[in-house]
Amino acid sequence: MTSDLHITNYTEYSKHSLVATFIDPLTKIEGFVAFYRLNLKYPAFGATRIWSYHTYKDGLEDALRLAKIMMYKNAMASTPYPGAKSVIVSDKLSPQKRTGLLKRYAQFINFLSGRFVTGADVGVTSNDVKVMKTVCKDYIVGIKVDPVFYTVKGLLVSLDTALKEVFGSTDLSNKTLAVQGVGKTGALFVHELSKKVKKIYITDIQKQRAKRISARYKNVYSVRPEDIYKQKVDIFSPCALGGILNRTTIKRIKSSIIIGTANNQLESPDIGDKLHAMGVFYAPDYIVNAGGVISVVHEYENKRVFRKDLGHRVERISETLEKVINYSKKRHISNRQAADELAEEIINHRDNI
Ligand code: NAD
Repeated sequence: MTSDLHITNYTEYSKHSLVATFIDPLTKIEGFVAFYRLNLKYPAFGATRIWSYHTYKDGLEDALRLAKIMMYKNAMASTPYPGAKSVIVSDKLSPQKRTGLLKRYAQFINFLSGRFVTGADVGVTSNDVKVMKTVCKDYIVGIKVDPVFYTVKGLLVSLDTALKEVFGSTDLSNKTLAVQGVGKTGALFVHELSKKVKKIYITDIQKQRAKRISARYKNVYSVRPEDIYKQKVDIFSPCALGGILNRTTIKRIKSSIIIGTANNQLESPDIGDKLHAMGVFYAPDYIVNAGGVISVVHEYENKRVFRKDLGHRVERISETLEKVINYSKKRHISNRQAADELAEEIINHRDNI
C-alpha cells in the first residue's frame, strides 16, 4: 500500500521503530522525533533541529535520516545510547512566539518521560536550550557543556589524522580551506584555523553572516554559496546541512580531503565510495562530529563536568578515525563503508528491540 501515512514507504526509512509527532496547538507547527531502533535500557540521544523545510514530508525524511546517523554516531563514540532526532518544521518566528513554541515543545519532551534526551542542532541556539530547560529539567542537555566547542575539538583532532594520512604532516601553513556554513560550528572552526592556514574561503546562505565573519580575519574570504565548490583548496569542510555531497558536487570539489561537522553529508552511501575511487579522503561525518554528543552524554551522566576527562574522551575521536582508516585499507573499501560496517557490528551486538 502506498500512502504518506506509511512511514515505511519513506525513502529514509530503514530500521526505525517509532516516530512521535509534536503538534503545537497554538501555532499549528509540527515536528517529528524519529527513533532508530528502541532500547529499553537507555534513552535515545539526538539534538533538535528547527528548519524551514519545503514540506512536512521533507522534515520527516530528514528526521529519519538523522536518527539513523545518530545511532551510528553513538555506537562509534562508545556511548550505549540509541539514536534519535527531532526536527521542527518552522519558518522564522517572532521572539515571543518562538519562546512559547520552545516551552510547549519542552513539555512534549517531558511527556516522552526520558525516552528522548535532546539539545541544540541547526537553527537552535544555546539560548533556546536555556528556555527549554526551564520547562524540561531532566532531558534537555547542553547547559553545563558547550557541545559546539566539543564538536569542533573533535573535528580538529580528526583533521590532524586526515592530514597525516593524506599529506604525511599536520602542518597547515601552506594549506587552503573552504568552509560551507559558518553557523555555530563552522564559525568556531574558521576561528580556530584562521591563524594556522594560508587561506580560508567561507560561505553561508545568510550572506551577511559570512561577510561579517570574513571581515574579522585577514586570510578569510567570503564567496557566494554556489561558488564554494569551485574553490581550489586542499580541504573542503561541510558545516551546514546534509546531502551536499552528490554526483554533481563531487565532480566540482577539487580538494584532497573532505571533513566537516555537517551530519549526513553524503546524499547516498555510494557517493562516499565514489569519492574513495576518485582518491579523495572523505572523513565519515558521524565519526568526526561526535564531540557534541560525547559532551552532552557526559553532562547527562555526571552531576558535575569533568573537563579534563571529557577533553580526553573527545580527543580519542582521532583514534576511532584511525581505526576506520585501517579497516578500510585492510578490506580495500571506502572510509564510508568501513565506518558503517564497524558501526553496524557494534549495534548488532546490542540488545535492541
Ligand atoms: P547552525 O544552524 O548554527 O549553522 C548552520 C549554518 O549553515 C547556518 O548559518 C546556515 O545559514 C548555513 N547554511 C545552511 N544551508 C547552507 C548552504 N546550502 N550553504 C551555505 N550555508 C548554509 O548549525 P551548527 O550547529 O553549526 O551545525 C552545522 C552542522 O553540523 C549540521 O549539519 C549539524 O547537524 C552538525 N552538527 C552540529 C553539532 C553541534 O554541536 N552544533 C554537532 C554535530 C553535528
